[in-house]
Amino acid sequence: MSGIQARLNAISAVINYKPAHAPLNYHDTKPTDIFGANVFSDKVMKERLPKAVYKSLQKTIELGEKLDASIADVVANTMKDWAIEKGATHFTHVFYPLTGMTAEKHDAFLVPDGKGGAIAEFSGKLLIQGEPDASSFPSGGLRSTFEARGYTAWDVTSPAYILENPNGTFLCIPTAFLSWTGEALDKKTPLLRSNQALNKQAKRVLKLFGVESKLPITSFAGPEQEYFLIDRNFVFSRPDLLIAGRSLFGAKSAKGQEFEDQYFGVVPRRVLSFMMEVERELFKLGVPVKTRHNEVAPSQFEIAPIYEVGNLATDHNQMVMTTLRSVAKRYGMICLLHEKPFSGINGSGKHLNYSIGNAELGSLYDPGDTPHDNAQFLVFCAAAIRALHKYGAMLRATVATASNDHRLGANEAPPAIMSMYLGEQLADVFDQIKKGKLKDSKSKGVMSVGVDTLPPLPMDPGDRNRTSPFAFTGNRFEFRAVGSSQSIAGSLVALNTMMAESLDYIATELEKATKGDSKKLNAAVQSLLQKIVKEHDAIVFNGDGYSEAWHKEAAKRGLPNLKTTPEALPVLTTKPVVELFTKYGVLSEAELKSREEIYLEMYAKTLKTEAALMVRMATTIIFPAAMRYQSELAAACANLKAIGKDYKMGALEEVTAKLRALQTAVAKLEKLAAHEAKSTHAEAKHLCDKVLPAMNEVRSYADALETIVADDLWSLPSYQEMLFIR
Ligand code: ADP
Ligand code: MG
Repeated sequence: MSGIQARLNAISAVINYKPAHAPLNYHDTKPTDIFGANVFSDKVMKERLPKAVYKSLQKTIELGEKLDASIADVVANTMKDWAIEKGATHFTHVFYPLTGMTAEKHDAFLVPDGKGGAIAEFSGKLLIQGEPDASSFPSGGLRSTFEARGYTAWDVTSPAYILENPNGTFLCIPTAFLSWTGEALDKKTPLLRSNQALNKQAKRVLKLFGVESKLPITSFAGPEQEYFLIDRNFVFSRPDLLIAGRSLFGAKSAKGQEFEDQYFGVVPRRVLSFMMEVERELFKLGVPVKTRHNEVAPSQFEIAPIYEVGNLATDHNQMVMTTLRSVAKRYGMICLLHEKPFSGINGSGKHLNYSIGNAELGSLYDPGDTPHDNAQFLVFCAAAIRALHKYGAMLRATVATASNDHRLGANEAPPAIMSMYLGEQLADVFDQIKKGKLKDSKSKGVMSVGVDTLPPLPMDPGDRNRTSPFAFTGNRFEFRAVGSSQSIAGSLVALNTMMAESLDYIATELEKATKGDSKKLNAAVQSLLQKIVKEHDAIVFNGDGYSEAWHKEAAKRGLPNLKTTPEALPVLTTKPVVELFTKYGVLSEAELKSREEIYLEMYAKTLKTEAALMVRMATTIIFPAAMRYQSELAAACANLKAIGKDYKMGALEEVTAKLRALQTAVAKLEKLAAHEAKSTHAEAKHLCDKVLPAMNEVRSYADALETIVADDLWSLPSYQEMLFIR
């Protein structure tokens, strides 16, 4: 399709769009009626399962107790009946391989009855364990192909649900994905393990404060999801968007985001229709989506849920991404989840709001109203300070991907340097703890950080610093470096485990100092907090994370600045990180090695694909367009010369020079991309250091040509069209 045809089709799509379904009527059907309608929820289980089975299952779900396998058959049967009532013909174990995608393989309930008919069957065995032939998923050396079959294991804590298709529905069962030797091949397994580690250590600390809770301590996550929407017609004419999910070429639009007229602006009609359908689908699946709005860049938007338990929030975020993608198509659009689909305007991230606690105790990062709560809060906060200082580089590694590299460190997203924003008030409190005296901000009197004497800390959540990668926002931390297309599991695993390690340290120190005598707690907390702040407050930074001055200051403080993926990923297998994860049983050394290998491989594959695509597009699309224009100009010159007019034309010189430069740059890129390195790591490094700059060079000439070649000859839809026709 030519660029002009794509433009005309897109315009027609905008003008003539119709909702994919009959308009939603929330008058007759309230959102509260459809919420969770397709979920095998607590309510459904309570209604349908025998009391004893329900109670046993509840113990596993809420208290983290081991699953009683003998109830599986009953649960499976009930689940099947419920699913069939909802029109389901098939079931699937849903799992999350290391590609970050959601994977599924459907099986029919139907089995022949041996008499020429068929019955519907679903056993406990099929519910608990599945065997997808998943040999093509990356294992990073954990499996050899002859023993390739991993297995999936039912995650009881994430409810099963029904997915709809116009031609039928199917039952989805969230699962973990492991090798036969028990190694994690997925994102979920370590997340569940890390929650256990966190629970154990947090409980030890709470016990010292005399706090008991029947419920486990867990992580909570609220991921704010950013995305772009582009008319589908454009994407069909842009192989780069289609294949790589980002534009490899494209001159800046005359108007970008500088007017700041998009952020929180009125949502375009078609987009709003899309959002409403996305929300309806997600409501049915029990995903508590709450917020929708325009984001900073043109055609960029955000959807945010209410926070949930980490494991559930992770599964739900995967559903959000899948739903965004599939519903967009129904409205003639493509949802781009890539971190940087368009250069020159903001990219997309996923702010991961993170806290720990449980329904009974609330967030342990919440200052609370009493001095007693406050001392406990300061301890949990100090644990976070220590954790980020010790393991910031590891957390950075969890967001290292080829696509996120375009975003981190650019002046729109947090820098690759990990630091913590505490806000003025809290930073001041810790500063005074460091100096050994805490003043009441009102009376200015000297106070000790005793459990009973600490003043209430009214936190101001409105105090925001958008340039910080890790910011305290009143009752939680906001980790802003996660990429928009990524699973949040990796970062959650890192956060849970590093918190567990710090809480372990704190519990051990306090247990030693108090020896069971709670009267000694005040003094012990005070001196331990002081020690932690003294050793680790280099990570605290309240200023402008984008500034040059901070980069210098951070280097002075010894904070790592891992700018690229090949620099960041090897952190995963460094000694302290391996020790951390093995100590708490979250990931073994072999599992960490396989992850590093897989992620590096994914990085290399992404860049190789992009380089090949770039060469192809430059050669078959951009070069011919510019050549045609060059011929037109040359013909015009010849004509002018023939009639005796001044025929020297600047445009011809310019096009000719840029064309030549483009050809040279493409040849160079092709050669560099063909290079074969000895190891995955060397390959990634070569692609990062050599190929990426060569790609940027090709792009610079192509984009320059776009601004001078006649519009009717340029077949790639422009940034202007893609970002503003909606
Ligand atoms: P903003 O864009 O101002 O940061 P949003 O309302 O878009 O805020 O998103 C905030 C996210 O943080 C929501 O998903 C919200 O549910 C979540 N959140 C609120 N409190 C907590 C908490 N204690 N733990 C984890 N997430 C939380
Ligand atoms: Mg937001």
